[in-house]
Amino acid sequence: MKKHNYSAGPCILPQEVFEKSAQALLNFNNSDLSILEISHRSKDFVAVMEEARNLVLELLGLQNKGYQVLFLAGGASLEFLMVPYNLMKVNGKAAYLETGTWAVNAIKEAKLFGETQIVASSSDSNFNFIPKNYEIPTNADYFHCTSNNTIFGTQMKSFPKTNIPLVCDMSSDIFSRTLDFEQFDLIYAGAQKNMGPAGTTLVVVKEEILGKSGRTIPSMLDYQKHIKAESMYNTPPVFPIYASLLTLQWLKNKGGISAIEQKNQAKATLLYNEIDRNPLFKGTAAVEDRSIMNATFLLHDENHTSIFDKMWKEAGISGLAGHRSVGGYRASMYNALPIESVQVLVDVMQALEKAV
Ligand code: PMP
Repeated sequence: MKKHNYSAGPCILPQEVFEKSAQALLNFNNSDLSILEISHRSKDFVAVMEEARNLVLELLGLQNKGYQVLFLAGGASLEFLMVPYNLMKVNGKAAYLETGTWAVNAIKEAKLFGETQIVASSSDSNFNFIPKNYEIPTNADYFHCTSNNTIFGTQMKSFPKTNIPLVCDMSSDIFSRTLDFEQFDLIYAGAQKNMGPAGTTLVVVKEEILGKSGRTIPSMLDYQKHIKAESMYNTPPVFPIYASLLTLQWLKNKGGISAIEQKNQAKATLLYNEIDRNPLFKGTAAVEDRSIMNATFLLHDENHTSIFDKMWKEAGISGLAGHRSVGGYRASMYNALPIESVQVLVDVMQALEKAV
C-alpha cells in the first residue's frame, strides 16, 4: 500500500505517471531504447517537447494569444533573477508583493538589478495573510507576486489590475484552479508540485513584453533565445519534461483544471472543516487567504505532539511536518492527492481528540 503523501514538493504525482515514466526508462515508444539514451533532437523527443508546450497552453486557455512556453532548468529560483534580467530596464524599477519566503528570495535577486519596491508585505505577522489594497506604481517595469505561499499556507484569491506586466510565481498552485490566465504576462513554476518531477521549470510568457530591458542578457538567461530555440537552446532536462507531459495528459484526461479544482476544493474543505471543528487544532493562515494546496496548522497543546505524530505515521501518512522554518504541520494537497488520503488524516485528528 502506498503512503498518503502530503509532501510539499517534490510530492505525489499520479500513479500512472510513475508507471509510464518507468516504462519509458526501459523502452521509450517501443524504440528499444531508453528515453535517457536518445538525443533530445530525435523525432520522438521533439514530439514530447511540442506536445508538452501545446498542452500547457491548452490547459491554461492561452492558445493563440501571444504566449510562449518554455521548459527550462535551474528551478523557480533561477526565475527569480531571469525575470528582472529580462524585464527590468536599465535604471528602471520593479514592484513586488512580499508574501513569504519565496517572495523574499525573489526580491533579493531583483535588488541586484535595480530599484525594487515592496508594495506591501505581511512579514510582520509571519506571512499569515495576503496584503490587500496596495498601490502598484505605474512607472515600474513589472509587478511580481506569488500566487501560493507554500510554506505559510496562504493563497492569493484575486490579482491586482495593473497596466504594467503582471508576473507570477505559481510554483505551488499552477494547474490547480481556474484563473483568467490572460491577466498574467509571465507565469513561472518549478515542476515539482503539480506538474512533474524536480528538474524543469515552466515559463509561460507573453512574447510582446520581452526585448525591452536594454540589457545585454547572457544567452542561457535570455527568454528570447530560449523561445527562438523552441526550448532547446541547450540540452533540456528530458526526463522531467517527459514526466511532466504525462502529468499534463493525466490532467487533461481528468477533465482539465476546472475538474481538478472541484476535487481540490473538496479536499481543502474537508481538512479545514476539521481544523476548525477540532478543539485540539488551530489553523495558522487568515481564513479568507487559506491555500487549497498547503494547509498549515498547529496543535493547541504541544504536549500532544508525540502522540499525534505517532498516530499519523501509523496511519500511513508521510510528509506532514511543517517547513523547517515554521514548524507545526503542513498538509500539501496537490492535484494527485486523492480525497481518501485527506479522510485518513481527518480520521486521525478525530481519533486524537478521543484519545487525549
Ligand atoms: N516559489 C515557490 C512558491 C516555491 O514553493 C518554491 C519551492 N518550494 C520555490 C519558488 C523555489 O523553487 P525551486 O526549488 O524550484 O527553485
